Amino acid sequence: MQTIGLIGGMSWESTASYYQLINQSIKQQLGGLHSAKLVLVSVDFAEIEALQHQGNWQKTADILSTAAKSLEAAGADFFLICTNTMHKVASQVSDAVKIPLLHIADATGAQLVSDNLNTIGLLGTKFTMQQGFYKDRLTDKFSINVLVPTDDEQEIIHSVIYQELCLGIVDDSSREQYVEIIQNLTQRGAQGIILGCTEIGLLVEKSHTKSTLYDTTVIHALAAVEKALK
Ligand code: GLU
Repeated sequence: MQTIGLIGGMSWESTASYYQLINQSIKQQLGGLHSAKLVLVSVDFAEIEALQHQGNWQKTADILSTAAKSLEAAGADFFLICTNTMHKVASQVSDAVKIPLLHIADATGAQLVSDNLNTIGLLGTKFTMQQGFYKDRLTDKFSINVLVPTDDEQEIIHSVIYQELCLGIVDDSSREQYVEIIQNLTQRGAQGIILGCTEIGLLVEKSHTKSTLYDTTVIHALAAVEKALK
């Protein structure tokens, strides 16, 4: 089994999900007392969030590059950045080390292709929904047409992530708003919905909507296990 490296803490609420999902899957596949070989470097999300909203992405890349080097030094064979948004600086972080990065959009794109989808709705932070680093990768590498919510809807999705989900607050009325936005994207032609922020799965689950959900936390964690066991 290979050792998985995780850069977490963005937020720790979703890093806890990664840890659990990875270990559950290893146990399911290997049985008995098996658990994941894993190294975690967890950053302070308050620092990262402030830098994101100031637009100081270079500094976030420096922090995550230092984290990646620690993972490499601690024996990780490959690593994950446990947030969609911070893949904005994925190439800089990846260039700082020799071990490979398992990119969250690649794991998600591969899943969509294997399910034969070509038009998908994307929920995430405004950085993820508006900028090219995520959407363009899905389109250019996997030929997926990506639909995003309207500006007002994006405002709701974004503020619920930072003001509730990253603080561990799961609110029923926010869930209703999310479900309505998912319905709107589905009516506009989305064949499925990417939960493109690693906390959204804490709020919206399969049972809340008829649309097919692609939870990036689950997809990314299971892709890590598959790679570790190959
Ligand atoms: N975890 C979230 C994501 O997947 C948002 C937190 C962040 O800005 O990194 O995008």
